[in-house]
Amino acid sequence: MSVLVRSGVGPLCAVARAAIPSIWRGKYFSSGNEPAENNPVTPMLRHLIYKIKSTGPITVAEYMKEVLTNPAKGYYVYRDMLGEQGDFITSPEISQIFGELLGIWFISEWMATGKSTAFQLVELGPGRGTLVGDILRVFTQLGSVLKNCDISVHLVEVSQKLSEIQALTLTEEKVPLERNAGSPVYMKGVTKSGIPISWYRHLHDVPKGYSFYLAHEFFDVLPVHKFQKTPQGWREVFIDIDPQVSDKLRFVLAPSATPAEAFIQHDETRDHVEVCPDAGVIIEELSQRIALTGGAALVADYGHDGTKTDTFRGFCGHKLHDVLIAPGTADLTADVDFSYLRRMAQGKVASLGPIKQHTFLKNMGIDVRLKVLLDKSNEPSVRQQLLQGYDMLMNPKKMGERFNFFALLPHERLEGGRHQRNARQSKPFASLVAGFSELAWQ
Ligand code: SAH
Repeated sequence: MSVLVRSGVGPLCAVARAAIPSIWRGKYFSSGNEPAENNPVTPMLRHLIYKIKSTGPITVAEYMKEVLTNPAKGYYVYRDMLGEQGDFITSPEISQIFGELLGIWFISEWMATGKSTAFQLVELGPGRGTLVGDILRVFTQLGSVLKNCDISVHLVEVSQKLSEIQALTLTEEKVPLERNAGSPVYMKGVTKSGIPISWYRHLHDVPKGYSFYLAHEFFDVLPVHKFQKTPQGWREVFIDIDPQVSDKLRFVLAPSATPAEAFIQHDETRDHVEVCPDAGVIIEELSQRIALTGGAALVADYGHDGTKTDTFRGFCGHKLHDVLIAPGTADLTADVDFSYLRRMAQGKVASLGPIKQHTFLKNMGIDVRLKVLLDKSNEPSVRQQLLQGYDMLMNPKKMGERFNFFALLPHERLEGGRHQRNARQSKPFASLVAGFSELAWQ
């Protein structure tokens, strides 16, 4: 039976969400054929041209990093790109049910691993704070379950603009925020439900301790290196200035091997690959932390299991956008290679997934939660929005199959730690991880 029904998680009525545009970031686009007249010379383009003229062509990874997170001009740093008025929309912005079910997932893992007296909820790339807000609402509603547990929230965010929006969404305005731009903890406050909340630019600055980590549509914005197989071997794709057209960038192949080639598997059979060393570093750090102190990480994103080739693409105003045009005005993204994430976790922690979003949410009880919200709502427009949101998240042709869930857990969690062992229980413990199998309230 669903936890949400039994415990009556609210609010029982629906929370208003953005109108749903027809496109989301999971879609594909091959870059490179936009006419030059559609290429305004943005400050970022000027910066990149200067950089390339001084030091030569740059890798796609360096291009992505500069365009997205350059501290002065990066796309993510000074704007709110999410939602109806922005460039793309994400699941928590579409439906409150998404975050509510993830909140239940964390509580379910907390209970399954012995109900520790404290935990940290750590989100990487929290966007507008909507997802963590929905999760915290579930924690409040299940206050009787969590009453003896000390919870703190830790957000890893590079964007100044988005961190301000997160603070507005999540914190109690009567308690002033503590700000210290020079410190690894650049902002601190208290959430509306009275939980301490802190902001960091890097995961390694978040205190080590029993934690639940969350990364939704985070790994896809990390910089990728791109490689093309040639008769001479793997050659990295670089970005150079087009000699034919002024102020235009183009892709070129490196004349010889480059160091990032070390990230390509020896038995690779594809002729084009994207590798994301930053994702590997973060997964290693998460794995070490989970192995050391317990907890779990939940990663949700669009991606593949080491099978796709050219997935680098741009988004602007809910439309696909040529990645080399008007850099700094559009989001850049590439599919997450879950087989690589799994390899980086191997030996340190256990991993589950990737499994499709529609399977994960179904296992978490999305149908029952939708029914509860529909039954409580008399407003036709709210009911329509709930149904449209459900369709967007679950429809295999929309986000249902393109998005995946992947989890990192301590080995003992799947083998069955002392507190989990039950002599009469013969089922493997892996089947008890909610989402990856049906949610069972323990
Ligand atoms: N998780 C949110 C937002 C996804 S957009 C949602 O689903 O709605 C990507 C988020 O990652 C943004 O908050 C962006 O500012 C942040 N981000 C991008 N690069 C980052 C980096 N290198 N370190 C930390 N945060 C980053």
